[in-house]
Amino acid sequence: MERVRAVVTGGAGFLGSHLCDRLLAEGMEVVCIDNLLTGSLANVEHLFGVDGFTFEKYDVTNYIHVPGEVDFVLHFASPASPIDYLELPIETLKVGSLGTHKALGLAKAKGARFLLASTSEVYGDPLTHPQPESYWGNVNPVGPRGVYDEAKRFSEAMTMAYQRFHGVSTRIVRIFNTFGPRMRPRDGRVVPAFISQVLAGEPLTVFGDGSQTRSFCYVDDEIEGIVRVLFSEIGDPVNIGNPAEMTVLQFAETIRRLVGNHVPIEFRPLPVDDPKVRQPDITLARTRLGWEPRVPLEEGLRRTIGYFRERRARQA
Ligand code: UDP
Repeated sequence: MERVRAVVTGGAGFLGSHLCDRLLAEGMEVVCIDNLLTGSLANVEHLFGVDGFTFEKYDVTNYIHVPGEVDFVLHFASPASPIDYLELPIETLKVGSLGTHKALGLAKAKGARFLLASTSEVYGDPLTHPQPESYWGNVNPVGPRGVYDEAKRFSEAMTMAYQRFHGVSTRIVRIFNTFGPRMRPRDGRVVPAFISQVLAGEPLTVFGDGSQTRSFCYVDDEIEGIVRVLFSEIGDPVNIGNPAEMTVLQFAETIRRLVGNHVPIEFRPLPVDDPKVRQPDITLARTRLGWEPRVPLEEGLRRTIGYFRERRARQA
């Protein structure tokens, strides 16, 4: 019997690489495509030589040529941290628009199912709390975050058009803040930022007064949710994230306590359009997929701190 074959764009990124691991573990062949703009070969080097895994360094905003049959196309390519998309605004817009178009075109040509990695950023700075999938969002299209938010909103619209007009089987996952091993220590996101700072004995940079909230999901839970959406019959977007919400200041205190290093807190200006609250309403995933996060925040953070410690030790 032919093996099921999946293409993962952005497969050398944080989530993409965990997804490659998982799909290989499911017995699939995996074609990992990444231009390594923000992804890293280090995230997938353990997969080189693994039966069924291939890697291609390629920019998916251009025509994607994959010989042979393909069953799934999972589109995970995109800069995904605020400082990345502020530094790479055009690339972010291109991969969300042109890249999504090419990845959908590949799925259509191969008769494959397509899954889009979307984001809680489609809700912008939300006026509804928590955010259900039915909420349309509050996004500033011309602000600095607009390049990511609007690219992802466009990619959702494009995905739905391919579903409705071309009959492509499509899935959309709205991913909320996720953390775990393989995040870049300096990608600017709050989890790697705080862990790296505490490990280095540097002050914690809290933006604004730290009263803004986020809800953090451990990567293993996120991947399980994504795979369930992939295999589900839900063609509309599904939120996958952890509803356990806390302020950024509470989060800073948690990291200090877990690492056991009481570094000072340094308050910095709040970035433009930084959402004041964020918490997924996961009723849909709970009821239709029987999914909910299982890894408690502190357990996930301990594993992530362990990863960052090892990384520092290797580089020392
Ligand atoms: N943040 C912070 N200090 C940092 C990095 C981020 O206080 O060094 C804040 C940021 O302003 C936001 C929250 O932490 O309110 C989460 O930021 P992140 O960049 O992880 O992602 P976002 O959820 O904003 O997309």
